[in-house]
Order: sequence, then C-alpha cells, then structure tokens
Amino acid sequence: MSSFDAIVIGSGLGGGVVTRRLSENGLNVLLLERGDFVPREPENWNPHAVFSQKRYHAREQWLDGRGRSFDPAMHYNVGGSSKFYGAAMFRLRERDFQELNYQEGISPAWPIRYADLAPYYDQAESMFFVHGDESGDPTAPPRAHPYPFPPCVSANLSNARATLRSMFNRSTNSRERATGAAAKDGPIGSSAQE
Ligand SMILES: Cc1cc2nc3c(=O)[nH]c(=O)nc-3n(C[C@H](O)[C@H](O)[C@H](O)COP(=O)(O)OP(=O)(O)OC[C@H]3O[C@@H](n4cnc5c(N)ncnc54)[C@H](O)[C@@H]3O)c2cc1C
Repeated sequence: MSSFDAIVIGSGLGGGVVTRRLSENGLNVLLLERGDFVPREPENWNPHAVFSQKRYHAREQWLDGRGRSFDPAMHYNVGGSSKFYGAAMFRLRERDFQELNYQEGISPAWPIRYADLAPYYDQAESMFFVHGDESGDPTAPPRAHPYPFPPCVSANLSNARATLRSMFNRSTNSRERATGAAAKDGPIGSSAQE
C-alpha cells in the first residue's frame, strides 16, 4: 500500500491512540516511529536500571529557555514513554481548566472545560483498562460512570510501588501527597491479570 489517509508521527500514547481511532474508523494509517522495539531483557523489570541508570532514556540533552541543558527523559522506542510510565491515569480536575496562578506565573484558562472532556475520559479509561475508585478522594471531578474496573490489588504492583518509594524516598502518587489518601485504589491503567 503506497497511499494513506493519515500519517501519524510517533507511536507514544498520543500517536498510538490517534492511530487506533483512525484505523477503527476505516482509515489507512501510516504510523512512523523513529525508535526500535524495546529489547526484552531482565533490566526491563529492574527499577534501578530503568529509573536510576536511565537505561532506556534517549542519550541527548535539550536546552531550556535560558540555554541551560537538561535531560528531557525522552524514550525513543515503539510505544514511547508508555513502555515505562507509571500507568497512573488521573483525570485533570475541574480547576485545572481555569486560570491558575503559580509562583512562576499565570497558567491561562483552557478554551474548553472539564465537562467537554469527560466523555472522552470515559472512552480512554475503557481503552486503557483503568482500575480505580475515587469515592474517597475530595479532589475527584464528577464522572458519569464508575471506573471500568475495580481497584488493582496486584501484589506485583504493591511491590513495585514499595521499591519506587524506597528509591525516591517519597510517595509515588501525587494525589497521595496532596490528600494523604491511600494509593491502593488507583487509578491505574493495566490489563495485567496477576
Ligand atoms: C518514567 C515516566 C513515568 C510516567 N508516569 C506517568 C503516569 O503514571 N501517568 C501519566 O499520566 N503520565 C506519566 N508519564 C508521562 C507520560 O508517559 C507521557 O506524558 C506520555 O507517554 C506522552 O505521550 P506522547 O505520545 O505525547 O509522547 P511520547 O511517549 O514521548 O511518544 C513520542 C513518540 O514519538 C517518537 N518520535 C519522536 N520524534 C519522532 C520523529 N521525528 N519521527 C518519528 N518518531 C518520532 C518517539 O520515539 C516516541 O515513541 C510518565 C513518563 C515517564 C518518562
């Protein structure tokens, strides 16, 4: 096939979802990815290799607005950062769409509101097998349906969280830091059965 209805550049979460939706609607899509597949190796499952040694980070430095270099933590591989991300699938809060005043400056209001995105969050949470229960979270935005799956109680997940906590000596969950709520109820996007 040499002609396409759409060309998507990058197979991360963004490009992957766009490609899937376009394909499901009958379009011929070419998905271009600059990176290779992540090799299957023991280090995939080793938080020290992944996070401390940055084994899968792109070896490059970017420049910030003042010309200072930093590690952008990019992952140039099939799946992009989704191969290594934490799978914490929080919805933005209603307030996030309003103008926010930060120490560094003003974050302008979005042209859309949470209510505009809510139906798409519903679809995305199904697509990503999101498990969770935010009933005890005072910051949770309104939702038409409960999470598509109940909270994760995987032993592997608990172990991974404990390892990351000890590595970084802090909570791995921003909501936990903000509210003190326990992390066991997600929301976590995972199709793992264990
Ligand atoms: C360690 C880690 C943990 C995270 N945990 C969470 C979390 O728990 N919850 C959460 O919501 N978010 C989390 N994130 C952030 C989340 O993973 C990213 O926001 C998200 O994956 C970004 O998706 P993206 O498609 O925009 O970009 P990316 O995932 O960066 O994908 C971009 C893709 O485009 C490819 N590409 C780039 N340039 C080109 C080119 N010129 N030609 C072809 N291909 C190209 C890249 O190789 C890559 O595959 C985490 C990120 C990291 C690194």
